[in-house]
Amino acid sequence: MPEGPEIRRAADGVEHALKNKTVQDIYFAFPHLEDYEELLKGSVVTRVDTKGKAMLIHFDNGYTIYSHNQLYGKWYIRNLYNYPKTNRQLRLALHNEKKSALLYSASDIEVLRDEEVPEHPFVSKVGPDILSEEVTADELLQRMKEKRFYNRKWSILLLDQGFVAGIGNYLRSEIMFAAGIHPSFRPIDCTEDQLMKASEAIIHLMKQSYKTGGITNDLELVKKLKAKGEKRSKYRHWVFNREGASCFVCGSEIEKTVAASRRLYFCPVCQGQGDAVL
Ligand SMILES: [Zn+2]
Repeated sequence: MPEGPEIRRAADGVEHALKNKTVQDIYFAFPHLEDYEELLKGSVVTRVDTKGKAMLIHFDNGYTIYSHNQLYGKWYIRNLYNYPKTNRQLRLALHNEKKSALLYSASDIEVLRDEEVPEHPFVSKVGPDILSEEVTADELLQRMKEKRFYNRKWSILLLDQGFVAGIGNYLRSEIMFAAGIHPSFRPIDCTEDQLMKASEAIIHLMKQSYKTGGITNDLELVKKLKAKGEKRSKYRHWVFNREGASCFVCGSEIEKTVAASRRLYFCPVCQGQGDAVL
């Protein structure tokens, strides 16, 4: 399932293809959206935002297309009317003079007036998006200490899109490792230093994953492992998907557990000391 960094990269592709260009043709697969085709034709795309796993395409006529990819949605950017060969169902197509931006399989698509966007059920509840907004480590630290977050387990909190938007399963394990947080911990169990490390790790790992296409491991280490001929699956993460392999920091065996019904990977030594690892 794509996480925030993957959605932001898809949004960059959509923005690159559509921004500041006039929509010459538009198609909605869902009958209840058909009336918007005429309304949006001839308008100009002003920007493409993300809110975690949701995407917002803004137009200069006061309307915004909201889409959420859920598990299956996928964007394709193609030359005009050059549809990919796929068994997926086309749900939304935006065409300008040169490009077609095509959304397949997604079922969660809406057209909103700009002023309705902040009140949208998903947008109104979702936390800050590190990749679309300026969020500082201090602001995140304050957020962790809010009553509604402070006493909840990290393993649940990090997947809650209301805390920080766009963190999914691999980022959860990686952030907890970087900050040395044991799977059973809550923010209230952590030292101030560890909370700060967690804030920094959230920002740093999301940005690095966005820039590198999903790599959360140390980039110098990645370089060395690549030079040794290691495959992507061996160097991509610190702990995620590495059950039984050696921890890159201490050499202990990485363990796997289940938290909030999802796989969670951790180093029992690095994450058992109550100190930040990185
Ligand atoms: Zn370790």
